[in-house]
Amino acid sequence: MAKRTKYAGEVTVSDVDQTITLKGWVQKRRNLGALIFVDLRDRSGIVQIVFKDDASKNLHDLAETLRNEYVIEVTGKVCKRANGEANERMKTGEIEIEVTDLKVLSTSKALPFNIEDHVDVKEDLKLKYRYLDLRRPEMQRAIMLRSKIKHVIHRFMDENGFIDIETPDLTKSTPEGARDFLVPSRTYNGNFWALPQSPQLFKQLLMSAGFDRYYQIARCFRDEDLRGDRQPEFTQVDIETSFLSEEEIMTIAEQLISTVLKEVINVDVKLPIERMGWNEAMDNYGSDKPDLRFDMKLINVEEVVSKTDFKVFSSALNNGGIVRALVAPKAGDKFSRKDIDSWGEYVKRFGAKGLAWLKVKDGELAGPVAKFMKPVTEELLKATEAEDDDLILFAADEKEVVYATLGYLRTFLGEKLGLIDHDQFRFVWITDWPMFHYSKEEDRYMAEHHPFTLPKEDTLEYLESDPSKVYAYAYDICLNGYELGGGSLRIHTREMQEKMFKALGFTAEDANERFGFLMNALDYGFPPHGGLAFGLDRFAMLLAKKNNIRDVIAFPKNSKGVEVLTDAPGEVEQAQLDELGLKVLKKMPSADLQKIENISVTDEVSLRRYQLNDAKEIQQLVEENRDNLAKFLPWATANDLAAEESFVKEAVASFDAGVSFDYVIEKNEKIVGTIDLHNIHKTNAEIGYWLAENHQHQGIMTMAVKKLVEALSPVLNLHRVVIKTDPSNVSSQKVALNAGFTLEGVQHGAVEQNGEFKDFQVYYYLIEGE
Ligand code: ASP
Repeated sequence: MAKRTKYAGEVTVSDVDQTITLKGWVQKRRNLGALIFVDLRDRSGIVQIVFKDDASKNLHDLAETLRNEYVIEVTGKVCKRANGEANERMKTGEIEIEVTDLKVLSTSKALPFNIEDHVDVKEDLKLKYRYLDLRRPEMQRAIMLRSKIKHVIHRFMDENGFIDIETPDLTKSTPEGARDFLVPSRTYNGNFWALPQSPQLFKQLLMSAGFDRYYQIARCFRDEDLRGDRQPEFTQVDIETSFLSEEEIMTIAEQLISTVLKEVINVDVKLPIERMGWNEAMDNYGSDKPDLRFDMKLINVEEVVSKTDFKVFSSALNNGGIVRALVAPKAGDKFSRKDIDSWGEYVKRFGAKGLAWLKVKDGELAGPVAKFMKPVTEELLKATEAEDDDLILFAADEKEVVYATLGYLRTFLGEKLGLIDHDQFRFVWITDWPMFHYSKEEDRYMAEHHPFTLPKEDTLEYLESDPSKVYAYAYDICLNGYELGGGSLRIHTREMQEKMFKALGFTAEDANERFGFLMNALDYGFPPHGGLAFGLDRFAMLLAKKNNIRDVIAFPKNSKGVEVLTDAPGEVEQAQLDELGLKVLKKMPSADLQKIENISVTDEVSLRRYQLNDAKEIQQLVEENRDNLAKFLPWATANDLAAEESFVKEAVASFDAGVSFDYVIEKNEKIVGTIDLHNIHKTNAEIGYWLAENHQHQGIMTMAVKKLVEALSPVLNLHRVVIKTDPSNVSSQKVALNAGFTLEGVQHGAVEQNGEFKDFQVYYYLIEGE
């Protein structure tokens, strides 16, 4: 093998006439007969290589065999492209390599998706073939950017006297308030390690040990439900210092941030970063991580509205609640009553009972609550500074509900109305946090950060009488509406720590059992200390301008917490369980579901697990039934039809990722429709289906659904199926009822989908005989 002399993306005009050797992947091949062009890709970029007509026949023949993603080695001469043939969109567009020698180092099968930015395929498919997904230039950039961030952090911390110290991954339960991941002990059956939710207590002990300044880029594990910006295992930049004030710690942290932004993406952060008290953030923005890239503050309108007869507002105020307004500039004509009603529906999840609103038209108020507000029109317009064509939204309820509702709508509308400058990096420190929050579910006060946070002395008198009035030396750093990190000064005396545990409802024994080692350490000269931790994944996501942390993690879990690539978590050998002294009492069904491949429905009809080669047939089916599609889905909008088509297109472009449970319905060995199962749970399953040739096959579908449920039932202990549907979709209800299920209930709601709200109804059916 020849030695590589250049990376593809780094060849420039200054290399013209040089002979170089490159190694990489075939991005694309164009065969123009005499000339064969190949785009050669490696991690640095793409360069065009060319096999000329005067090349030897052998070389030409070999070049003809090249296909996408073959790994090749080429040697050739760098040439300037002829005038007019330069490609301005390519970094290396001015030159090309005339190949004199080619070696095929490795071949490739046809790909499940193209190696290019913005591929439109299901995420699970990309995760199953993550090594291919990671070849895409945007993924390479994101992962390399993450690496750069880490390097800058390591250097900054080293230069500022921080010592990099590792702490254990197998340890005792730690206290960030999430669920622990447990690891059974083989040596001590019946005992468990916990994976750390953060190195919190170890880093505190390192301060006791006198290291003075610690940092670590640490893995943390929290067994929680996932969201776009959360993963069960994630990475923190964890920092702890001794003898520094809150201000001093924040100063170091923001210098770190500004160094990273400058060196990684060449953005200047103005220091010091703005500080905002927690109360101010909540009252102005309805959020403890406000997005300050746009204004639109919550407005206190209590004085004005209390002069009206509007019961919704007055009863909220009488019950100790608050009333706030939000003015959406020039939004009056942009949203219909139906839109706003759907927001009202959506915010019920925050506990809101609904949404009152007004539009301003020619200096007058219009909309459902206008008649109540008429008498105070002038005062209201003055208080809210609302102008013509503005939309005013109100929330009146308990504080928490009002903040959550308007905080959500503020961000939603900021995005919708284009008020956000996406090039901006807007940081803010949120300081002066309450020490506790009250948990309704647990009926007790919980630590807002964690139980080791130092309370402010002047609020300590409320520790027993009214914990909600105790504030802490705690600070969070937020960027563009995301919490990037947080920390606090810590308690460093046994006396204070004991008081705190008591306030949190721990008995002395509990506290000793869980945190005895810390309490002991507090007896031996523990320095005042404090620190913080940044979420590295989120930081990388924001700097890479991605919406999802999975895009900056090489091997993430999917949104359901599954590592699709390796299919983990998975089952283990009985012998392993025996060694650990464990017995599995309940099993997740997925493994068994995989085994249900064929279900016979009638002599002619059967259900079969979807295979990749079915995709083309399904697409054809959709094509043939295009008219019926509209008939069969009479409620469907053009959008839905487009969605259906793009789903099919995607299926054709992809292999079966093997993680969904989709079936095709065959009649006389010809596909006539599909059934898909989502959100499979031990006792529930969501069912969706699509059937060609409109409802003449409704009977088939009824039988198929029934049979499928029968087959799944023993595996899943299924006693309920859920059908999510558009309100006007009666046919799926018919299928369910005809299959013998009893309607248990209907839940109405709205879902947000790419910034649009859609009504849906969820029908719950009980399966007969259960
Ligand atoms: N350990 C804390 C966390 O993970 C951060 C800190 O207080 O330093 O949230």
